[in-house]
Amino acid sequence: MKIFNTLSRSKEEFKPLEENKVRMYVCGPTVYNLIHIGNARPMIVFDTVRRYMEYKGYEVNYVSNFTDVDDKIIKKANEEGVTSEEISKRYIKECKQDMADLNVRPATTHPLATEEIGGMIDMISTLIEKGYAYAVEDGTVYYRTRKFKDYGKLSHKNIDDLEAGHRNINVTGDLKEDPLDFVLWKPKKEGEPYWTSPWSDGRPGWHIECSVMSKKYLGDEIDIHAGGEDLIFPHHENEIAQSEAANGVEFSKYWMHNGFLKIDNEKMSKSAGNFFTVRDIKEKYDLQVLRFFMLSAHYRSPLNFSDELMESAKNGLERIKNSVGQLSFYESNAKFDELTEDEKASLSEAKKYIEKFESAMEDDFNTADAISAVFELVKYVNQKASEESSKNYVLELKKEILTMTDILGLLVETKEELLDGDIEALIEERQAARKEKNFKRADEIRDELLEKGIVLEDTREGVKWKRA
Ligand code: AMP
Ligand code: ZN
Repeated sequence: MKIFNTLSRSKEEFKPLEENKVRMYVCGPTVYNLIHIGNARPMIVFDTVRRYMEYKGYEVNYVSNFTDVDDKIIKKANEEGVTSEEISKRYIKECKQDMADLNVRPATTHPLATEEIGGMIDMISTLIEKGYAYAVEDGTVYYRTRKFKDYGKLSHKNIDDLEAGHRNINVTGDLKEDPLDFVLWKPKKEGEPYWTSPWSDGRPGWHIECSVMSKKYLGDEIDIHAGGEDLIFPHHENEIAQSEAANGVEFSKYWMHNGFLKIDNEKMSKSAGNFFTVRDIKEKYDLQVLRFFMLSAHYRSPLNFSDELMESAKNGLERIKNSVGQLSFYESNAKFDELTEDEKASLSEAKKYIEKFESAMEDDFNTADAISAVFELVKYVNQKASEESSKNYVLELKKEILTMTDILGLLVETKEELLDGDIEALIEERQAARKEKNFKRADEIRDELLEKGIVLEDTREGVKWKRA
């Protein structure tokens, strides 16, 4: 399996630190708003990487954080007159809903920055002890960038060029030793959430969060660290400086970055206002179409969002679904079970499509070519399977399509619909579980319903539900 490593700027053979295991960290969103479809790209892409690795037999420990303390969250909380916690909780919940709709599997762990402050204080203390960080009078702690000899190795930047760039920016009131130094801890301002630390009542900088959460849940050395390409510099460069200085070992072997989702050939971003939320798209399309659209390009290429491409993704997905639906029909109407000799030969011929699919995925997760292999198989199936086929033959063909679509995380089988009565019975059971304070069971029921596309809403008048 080859992975393009941003560190070496080349495709490298993947060799895990520990046999058959993968430790993977994906930088998650800052939760102050509904996620936009650009944010959905890394979620979909790295979920697919995880699925493929699991298919190949790896046990993947997949960690993805939520940044739940940040200027933007505080600003939003002040605007609404609520706490930052209320904002972050609300948007984590919404984000998880979008992830479920996109068939992005929950991470092994989704740590929250606000629950890991102790670890951040520990790592900052270590960096101070080792001479890589210093506190100044106002209670800010900075990272001493120049002290870390490898600074710039990920983004392939030269530290002296960076310094020249920084000199032109006139920073006032800074107590830094060097313009390149970045913040590890900052003192609170009036009305901001804060934690007590040896340096000031305040909060951590953004970069230290990921270094600490990755260390806690995956260890000092990990296999893959991933995120959007905008994170290469400074976020990931700073994470490397922090983690490697504190832990004394290489932080991550492979660094993967997805290209940007654009709109009208411009970067889609919240600040520019040219974005669609995942929810906006859900009004018009099944979100499987969005997932299919994202995977139709290589993850490192820029991808331009357009109605035309979404329509073509919709048609493409429909073609696969129709073929699977047709096979299910043949399956239930088959006149006999056992494979004929011709069918056996045909099945071994069909194996070439899964081989093609795999070799595309082995080549730095080329999902665009992998999807072509799915289409070729669909075409083959449409020619070869019929009402005259044996049950086992159509089952095997269907299994081959579903193997590929499962790796891509695409739901192509029509789900059995829950009847209203079943839903209401489950809701009643959930209410009873809650009364008994059996929240585990209550959550299980909610998730089970969510999986079948039923969304629950707790209101004053009781529980309401709708089909998503
Ligand atoms: P943020 O909440 O801005 O930290 O972003 C969360 C993740 O989404 C990061 O991995 C970003 O790199 C990624 N991201 C943000 N905007 C886009 C975009 N337009 N296209 C692709 N990825 C993006
Ligand atoms: Zn991060």
